[in-house]
Amino acid sequence: MPDKIAIAIHGGAGTILRSTMTPELQLQYEGGLQAALDAGYAVLDGGGSAVDAVAVAVASLEDFPLFNAGKGAVFNHIGQHEMDAAIMNGKTLEAGAVCGVAHVKNPVLVAKEVMLHSGHVMLGGQGAEEFARQRNMQVEEDAYFYTQQRYNQWQDALKEDKVQLDHTDKKFGTVGCVALDKEGNLAAATSTGGLTNKKFGRIGDSPVIGAGTYANNHTCAISCTGVGELFIRSVVAYDISCLIDYKGLSLKDACNLVVLDKLVKIEGEGGLIAIDKDGNIEMTFNSEGMYRACKDSNGRNEVLIYKE
Ligand code: ASP
Repeated sequence: MPDKIAIAIHGGAGTILRSTMTPELQLQYEGGLQAALDAGYAVLDGGGSAVDAVAVAVASLEDFPLFNAGKGAVFNHIGQHEMDAAIMNGKTLEAGAVCGVAHVKNPVLVAKEVMLHSGHVMLGGQGAEEFARQRNMQVEEDAYFYTQQRYNQWQDALKEDKVQLDHTDKKFGTVGCVALDKEGNLAAATSTGGLTNKKFGRIGDSPVIGAGTYANNHTCAISCTGVGELFIRSVVAYDISCLIDYKGLSLKDACNLVVLDKLVKIEGEGGLIAIDKDGNIEMTFNSEGMYRACKDSNGRNEVLIYKE
């Protein structure tokens, strides 16, 4: 029975430059990442499941206002927060997702409820919110999700009439987690507020199983961040799983092929975190930076932001 445990998280990829970061802000980001990493790792260390670990870590990132998920989610065109999230169990291939959902404090926890108790895989909009209320999930007023920084970004985007990637400096703030538990099971979860000023009920890749989120014990667990439309069209997470499954690629080679070659060719900026059944971790991105961190039972503990 394998007992190595490992976990990786991300807080979004994009144009994240040392030149535009203050030391204080960097410390805040690093603190948010380490806290989420530790919360997820503690679940694994206590013998908990990979599914529970990714849910706990992503919920921690959702509660952290600097990332674009849960509190701190971006504003859509009409000043609302519409969030997407997904979770997948690599052992059973069960999955749950919510899209375009408002008011729920932790979309990833609702996605987990969808997986376990709805009989469906994906619930959207008002139906997802209604389901969350029925399951007694925590809901919040609009004011809970408000942050001045996101409001200012939305106002700027409105003035220029453009749909914007998280920050004015083109950064994706989606969060995600992948984990391997003591039983050798894999899981993945992703959560996002999507794009600033998004219209028409736009849904990104994060809640789409196989695109932004995927887990399968035989191959790997993946959580993505980047231009959602291109990640959906490239079926990124499942593509990596297939390259391992059908072509025998290593996790590293599969991630490099998809993120550094296939996505680059179609200008699919972004990245992903990945973990395989042996506890190998990859944190691959084709952008300037990606908020990311990982920890395993061999003593590895990394919190990184920029390209090294
Ligand atoms: N992938 C997300 C989306 O398109 C954005 C992000 O990664 O921040 O909704």
